[in-house]
Amino acid sequence: MSRRISGFKPTGHLQLGNYAGAIRPVVDAQHDHPTVAFIADLHAMTVPHDPSRLRELSLEVGGLLLAAGVDPARTVLYRQSDLTAHSELHYLLECVTSYGEAHRMIQFKEAHFKNKDGGSGSRLSLLTYPVLQAADILLHDIDEVPVGRDQRQHVELTRDLALRFNERYGPVFTVPSTVLAPVAARLADLSDPTAKMGKTNASANGVLFLLDPPDVLRRKIMRAVTDGGTEVVYDPEGKPGVSNLLDILAGCTGDQPAEIATKYANYGELKEAAAAAVIDLLRPIQRRYHDLSPEDIEHTLRAGADRARERADATVGRAREALGLTSGRRAPAGSRGTPVTAAPAR
Ligand code: AMP
Repeated sequence: MSRRISGFKPTGHLQLGNYAGAIRPVVDAQHDHPTVAFIADLHAMTVPHDPSRLRELSLEVGGLLLAAGVDPARTVLYRQSDLTAHSELHYLLECVTSYGEAHRMIQFKEAHFKNKDGGSGSRLSLLTYPVLQAADILLHDIDEVPVGRDQRQHVELTRDLALRFNERYGPVFTVPSTVLAPVAARLADLSDPTAKMGKTNASANGVLFLLDPPDVLRRKIMRAVTDGGTEVVYDPEGKPGVSNLLDILAGCTGDQPAEIATKYANYGELKEAAAAAVIDLLRPIQRRYHDLSPEDIEHTLRAGADRARERADATVGRAREALGLTSGRRAPAGSRGTPVTAAPAR
């Protein structure tokens, strides 16, 4: 069975879109695929960050993944920075990446030129993080990377780098293929249905965070922006607000949004139903999350890193050796080389 990987960037509190689009697919697939899931804390540092918040969010994301059903006995779950092999392979891969290649990445251009200073203050890691992503994938001999459309270019880069490295220096890496992630509806912000629901959106009013208490979830949904008219129909173009509520409800129940639409006579009823469904979905996840102590989460993540280390170190060892670095040459068991001392002064 093909090995898969997913990363979760701790740049904010996880929200319902993350659950539907990224967490649930891992939970569902982990029974059929050997799976690696990691908290991408190194990737959270490509933009200005606060160290204590990063530390807290990393633990929160880890706890929520566990509470949502990622099974650490099936999935290798760990925090990226606990495995130094990521940083090491990142550098080695930079040595087979051209500047032009990194510079062409659309995500880089978008984030870089959005900066007020025209990009001159962008962290260099914003340019190079797709190479770190390649390292994340190649470390684990991954066969398949489930991605949304926005990340396809980065997986293509990973394939290019793996093929180039293998051709130049010898067969070190498994070349992964992209699988388009099962399309979960893209959930929109409740206060602006034309924008994506995102964990770093400016206002929290339109975002359903996984750890929002039930009364907050309910309030946000009841205040959701709806559309003209009164009829409940699934029409993402013409009725984006109502359709988003239907997507949210469908995401909770597993039904089709267009079918669900026929059950409700007006927007108020739909909102009531969506609020009840989201609260029901999140209640057990929140309960399990609150039962976990930070120590439990920390312990589980470290145990996951220990599991991941053997394969990751072996990959880096092969890459080092192929590149002509010295670690490949170890003294045979039983023989110890003699350390060289300073030559006698003349
Ligand atoms: P982000 O939190 O933006 O880094 O997104 C991480 C992943 O979560 C994305 O690649 C999507 O798979 C998923 N995701 C985030 N926001 C949404 C959303 N509003 N609707 C559906 N999926 C989402």
